[in-house]
Amino acid sequence: MPTAFDRTLLPLIDRALAEPGWLPAMPAALQADYAAERLQQCRLFNRRLLITLTLIFDFYWVGEFYAEPEIVSLSGLLRFGLMTPAVLIFTELDRRGRVGRRYGAWLLLLTVTPAIISAVLCVHSSAEAAMLDIRATPLILLGTSIAVRMPPREFLINTAAAPLIFIASLFASRVVPAGEIGSLALIEVSIAAAAIGFNLQLEWRDRRMFLLNTADRIMRGLLDAANQGLVRETLTDPLTGVANRRCFDDTLAMFWQHGSAQQRAVGLIMADIDHFKLYNDHYGHQAGDDCLRRVAARIGTLIREQDVLARYGGEEFAILLPDASPETVRGVAERVRQGVEELGLTHEGMAPPGIVTLSLGYGCIAPHRGAIMRDLVAIADSKLYAAKRNGRNIVAVSETQV
Ligand code: GH3
Ligand code: MG
Ligand code: MG
Repeated sequence: MPTAFDRTLLPLIDRALAEPGWLPAMPAALQADYAAERLQQCRLFNRRLLITLTLIFDFYWVGEFYAEPEIVSLSGLLRFGLMTPAVLIFTELDRRGRVGRRYGAWLLLLTVTPAIISAVLCVHSSAEAAMLDIRATPLILLGTSIAVRMPPREFLINTAAAPLIFIASLFASRVVPAGEIGSLALIEVSIAAAAIGFNLQLEWRDRRMFLLNTADRIMRGLLDAANQGLVRETLTDPLTGVANRRCFDDTLAMFWQHGSAQQRAVGLIMADIDHFKLYNDHYGHQAGDDCLRRVAARIGTLIREQDVLARYGGEEFAILLPDASPETVRGVAERVRQGVEELGLTHEGMAPPGIVTLSLGYGCIAPHRGAIMRDLVAIADSKLYAAKRNGRNIVAVSETQV
């Protein structure tokens, strides 16, 4: 399947569809996909058709039974002992996906075989009635080259081989009058020509459908990607790349609902960079931005996979923890505090100079116990201010827990 985002294919497809010619030229990048899709369609279609055609082929034996007794046993052997089991085994193996990459070759063998059988019977028959069979033989070509769908190469081989076998058998036969050979051969060649025209038409339609479908799929892929990009953009903080406030609100609501349904607690950590105004004043806003990015990236590596880090505003970050317990929330908060401290980002705007640190507050509430969502934010926020009051670079322990 071509990648849904490969926009470079679009102009190639447009050109292939616009160019005049017998068949739309398949762009090289799509050839393998087209061949695979076409083959898959052939297989599905042929599975039922081959059995039907074989039944018709077998039915001719009834006519031979009455009109051509000298070939009836040979015919029975070839039809019921060879052709029918071969088709049944082939279709069953194909249904089980066991035919593999040689599908075209096996199919060709199966379509040429009835032509050979007819030729053999034609040569062996001496009855006048054999002419009936011989006149019916072009129908085999009709069935195998028009009804059966084959890969192009096998189709051409079958469509050339069947008339040759048939015409050769006419010459070898004891019952075909010399004057009839020409008209019988012409019928067979006409059918072969019609089969080529018909298959060209099918091929033209299949290629166009495939190209149009592929273009459609690529366009839809590009649109989906653009939409996903837009959604991502509306939920991401452009400076730090973490979730933004809007995403925080949505996620909190989602975790809250999940906690309520699953009777699990939701944890929230609020983290605020200490003396960040001084940092900006000392290093400038761009360095401040850089500091925010580095702190956010660091926090991102310290939280659990299921937790969500968001920029709550300014230099304040929030971490949402689903399925939490007060101990895990506290553990994560302490790990984050320590991790940012270990970054060792110098902060010379302070007196005395120090490093960039975080103050953190947290809350952990079980929604199913009648709590309201806003309480969680209020608790974590008040604890954050407690941490500021108590000297910064600490996690203020929350006593109002689940
Ligand atoms: P405290 O330890 O009490 O938190 O002190 P503080 O200086 O960190 O807090 P304050 O609220 O006084 O200052 C926050 C500063 O964060 C002020 C503002 O300029 C800065 N700030 C907020 N958003 C951004 C941003 O996107 N980029 C930069 N560079 N600075 C920001
Ligand atoms: Mg601050
Ligand atoms: Mg602040």
